[in-house]
Amino acid sequence: MKAESIRINSKRLNDRIQEMAQFGALASGGVKRLTLSPQDKAARDLFKQWMEELGLEIAIDEIGNMFGILKGKNADRCIGIGSHLDSVPTGGRYDGPVGALGALEVAQTLIENNVQLNSTLVVANYTNEEGVRFFPDMMGSLAHVKPEEVPNYLKAKDKNGITIDDALKEIGYNGGMKCGTLRYNHFIEIHIEQGSILEERKIDIGIVQSVQAIHWLKLTLIGKSAHAGTTPIHARNDAFYALSKLSCFARELCYKIKDQLITIGTIEVKPNVINVVPEEVVVTLDMRNLSDDKLKLAINQIENFIATDESFAHIKVSKEVLVNVPAIPFNENVVNAIDKSCQQLGYSSYKMHSGAGHDAQILATQFPAAMIFIPSKNGVSHDVDEYSSPEQIEKGANVLLHTVLHLDE
Ligand SMILES: [Zn+2]
Repeated sequence: MKAESIRINSKRLNDRIQEMAQFGALASGGVKRLTLSPQDKAARDLFKQWMEELGLEIAIDEIGNMFGILKGKNADRCIGIGSHLDSVPTGGRYDGPVGALGALEVAQTLIENNVQLNSTLVVANYTNEEGVRFFPDMMGSLAHVKPEEVPNYLKAKDKNGITIDDALKEIGYNGGMKCGTLRYNHFIEIHIEQGSILEERKIDIGIVQSVQAIHWLKLTLIGKSAHAGTTPIHARNDAFYALSKLSCFARELCYKIKDQLITIGTIEVKPNVINVVPEEVVVTLDMRNLSDDKLKLAINQIENFIATDESFAHIKVSKEVLVNVPAIPFNENVVNAIDKSCQQLGYSSYKMHSGAGHDAQILATQFPAAMIFIPSKNGVSHDVDEYSSPEQIEKGANVLLHTVLHLDE
């Protein structure tokens, strides 16, 4: 059979995604499969068994990243495909497994059709993508590109004081391979969109061109508490009033600066009493933009507002930057290969950007990479109601298969 006409086995892939969902299954239909937990071990064991049954060579690295290796004709070339199997505490069945099991399905389809690639194909499951149990998120892919950080990562503790090192040993996934050993010529990840753009536009495939820049800022605003009945308005030093003005200003900025998003997601007010003027507010700002320069502009404008607005005149402000990640552009060749595959397969596609972080964005800092998005029902993700249909998953995996074939040429 000619390589252009081969297709993945949709039933097998979708059955495996549902079978995977038994590990950490919640009564509501979702999953709780925190990284390196007993549920994650069970998922990993089955994933490993499927890879072994296919004859893939198994390698586990020091941070527990799992790889199934299918040797190609040319020892110098390597294509990586995969995602993650861990979930958030009230996660769905699709965030991660679509990419990891989609990659496995591509390897199996190639083997069954007797297609031997020039490149070695690596099917990957990266450890701790979600970052719920251990900080930082996307740890496995970070370890792949920054092996010098591995000793620090191994010391990361969960809330019970268990280190990654302990957790890996407990489940038997403390592998012997040095992180970063596998050098990809290309890396491709399928993932659910986790947003509603594809569904709204009735598009089969999102071709992800970049991941937006992200800046997390924590602000502590200190004013003065005062009696709500006896302190005249002009004499108040109200930390919450300053925040409320900042919040409105942040919204205006999002209208003014192209593609700017700002979310004030957590607020702590002290003393949080009905008849006391708030003395202190601790607040976080999640700021994102596709452009590093535009994000910088938004950050400057926020700082300028704090420095000059009358509501902040007597408020003491301290700042802490929690996260600052630049925008990651994906590789043009990989993007074009995905585009070409969609055209060949007759699937509609849309070039877009990712609002969420993914392993592929970390790997993209060293290897030419890109991502394939499939629609998410109602844009829901990190929730038990997450859903993508068997047909949507099938199309995503077929695009991955043909992208691999193009990149191998
Ligand atoms: Zn994910």
